[in-house]
Amino acid sequence: MTGSLAKMYIAGAWVQGGSGDVQDIINPATGDAIGQLCLADSNDLERALAAAEHGLQIWGAVPAWDRGRILKDAADLMRDRSAEIGRLMTLEHGKTPAEAQVELVRAADFIEWGGEEARRVASRQFGARDPDVTVTIQYGPVGVVAAFSPWNYPVLQASKKLAALLAAGCSCVLKPAEETPSATIAFLQCLIDAGLPANVVNMVFGVPSEVSSFLISDPRVAKITFTGSLPVGKLLASQAGRHMKPVTMELGGHSPVLVCEDADLDSAIDILVLRKFANSGQVCVSPNRIFAHESIVEEFTRRFCEKASQVVVGDGCKNDVTMGPLANLRRLEAVQGLVSDAVARGARVVMGGARLEGAGYLFPPTVLRDVSEDSDLMTVEPFGPVVPIVSFSDYDDVLRRANATEYGLAAYIFSRDEKRQRYLADRLIVGTIGINDIPTHTADIPLGGWKDSGYGVEGGIEMTQAYLKSKFLYTKNAAWRPENGS
Ligand code: NAD
Repeated sequence: MTGSLAKMYIAGAWVQGGSGDVQDIINPATGDAIGQLCLADSNDLERALAAAEHGLQIWGAVPAWDRGRILKDAADLMRDRSAEIGRLMTLEHGKTPAEAQVELVRAADFIEWGGEEARRVASRQFGARDPDVTVTIQYGPVGVVAAFSPWNYPVLQASKKLAALLAAGCSCVLKPAEETPSATIAFLQCLIDAGLPANVVNMVFGVPSEVSSFLISDPRVAKITFTGSLPVGKLLASQAGRHMKPVTMELGGHSPVLVCEDADLDSAIDILVLRKFANSGQVCVSPNRIFAHESIVEEFTRRFCEKASQVVVGDGCKNDVTMGPLANLRRLEAVQGLVSDAVARGARVVMGGARLEGAGYLFPPTVLRDVSEDSDLMTVEPFGPVVPIVSFSDYDDVLRRANATEYGLAAYIFSRDEKRQRYLADRLIVGTIGINDIPTHTADIPLGGWKDSGYGVEGGIEMTQAYLKSKFLYTKNAAWRPENGS
């Protein structure tokens, strides 16, 4: 990969942009440039869109059964090539090889699931009130999709989008994150090698705001899907709204965790440390605000920090490292800013708190106490290895505090009492609840955010619905009756 040139995929060919513009690809563990990425200009985007429009016809002519086979074969290739794709991810994103493998297994499952769902898109026919009429509700692809996927899971997030839209029979222009292009490119190569026809998926990179404005406003684009932050999601949704285009939005979360006085602390701490620092905290469903009952908060904090101190931070390429760097300088600065803001408002840093020495974007597991509720850390998704632990004594009050953000993605409850679990779960305003565990989003589960965390779901049997449109066919033919003759 070092020194390589990452290209775009337009109309069935890997190409450099017409303008010749490139940008560096940075290894976040070292801060070094390890390659360059080609960027699209408006002519490239025009070609990508024209190709996708053509690709819609091509993909539509492939029987659903064969679409399913292509996706299944691509999933197998992803599994075969996971070591190599994972190596690219570690170099560009910083995650450890073990984390990269977990991501790739999940991504391959999404593509395989998409292959299965492709074969289940079915129309409905039923008799109408008039015996001479047949009513058909026919489902077909919504059209060309503009898809934007982020850098935190460069293959998984793109796979969720492609699995659903390809299953539905759509074509697309995909713009993955510019920070982590190579793993996504290697993923697309699996689809190509499995037989995905040229023009169906086109992949571009560029200046994100320019690419999205161009694609969303073009009449050939029928649907927008985006995974990323709330502000960008809202911007793209408003642009799509101006052009009456449907969207699927997977935006951030700021998931509260309620650790009750009767929680199994051994298990809760193992799970929370593992999941809080996974992917260096850059996960939309990361447990971000820990509310521990006042009777156990001191013991919980001490033992949480003991466990968190076993996390080995460093270059993911090194053997015993369990948490890599933050993925880019932007995140490092944002995370440091959240800690500084909390401290300025009276928070106490119990562990970590400042970037580690060296060239890479290394930030240690960081725990804060006495965090005021108006700190940015309590209201803005940290997307990093930072967690406030705050105490509570009253359950209705903690529910109010847990729900007091614009996010509504996920929440977690640790308690042995089933009635308490139910009471809390019923009142948390989120799309996902984990009780005594933090669930992983697998292909068979429809995951989506409530409130500002998103719109629509990815995964599950529901995922293709977002990329289908229905047509109502009303057919009147006088029914044949023997007494009427031919
Ligand atoms: P961001 O929203 O600026 O960028 C996220 C992705 O969107 C990137 O791939 C970026 O290239 C792209 N993007 C940015 N502006 C765009 C535009 N105008 N048009 C099209 N694409 C655009 O956020 P970031 O700084 O990369 O990441 C920080 C925040 O993003 C996090 O705090 C988190 O809230 C959110 N995030 C969420 C997820 C998720 O899984 N929901 C994933 C990544 C990032």
